[in-house]
Amino acid sequence: PTNVNNLADEYLRLAYHGLRAKDKSFNAELVTHFDDALPLIKIVPQDVGRVLLNMFNNAFYAVQQKQKKGIVGFKPTVEVSTVKIGQFLEIKVKDNGIGIPEEIKDKILQPFFTTKPTGQGTGLGLSLSYDIIVKAHGGQIDIDSVEGEFTAFIIKLPL
Ligand code: ADP
Ligand code: MG
Repeated sequence: PTNVNNLADEYLRLAYHGLRAKDKSFNAELVTHFDDALPLIKIVPQDVGRVLLNMFNNAFYAVQQKQKKGIVGFKPTVEVSTVKIGQFLEIKVKDNGIGIPEEIKDKILQPFFTTKPTGQGTGLGLSLSYDIIVKAHGGQIDIDSVEGEFTAFIIKLPL
């Protein structure tokens, strides 16, 4: 039985500090909304942790790319929230980065699909996430994104 709030919090900080160790000038606001009444859940924590780590890294990358555009008043933000809804536990990872263009939305879960330069992305993160969340845990991944505005990944795990 795993406390998903602790898992998400640990991996969020791990991802952020990992990035900042490489690029001291990078700053993002981290916002967390953890449901205090979240029940413990039977998952493989290392596997769900890998999914979260990839989503956080994707989110930081997306806000970093938007920051490079030099938009006045832009404040890079990555938000993580958890909630229990019915028989599901939901983890939402939202960023206000570059967003996902409409024409690639149905491709991002495919293995080796990446828009990152060579060496910066393998394109395996989301396809692995699908295997871990959907196939191995019987859950679901929903994606909500508007190009140039935001991206949110919602992981649903059955309790
Ligand atoms: P990788 O990170 O190695 O590119 P992923 O499977 O994690 O592979 O992601 C695949 C692609 O999905 C990314 O290259 C990017 O185009 C898109 N993507 C994923 N997360 C985000 C996000 N938060 N914001 C914008 N695009 C994203
Ligand atoms: Mg990735």
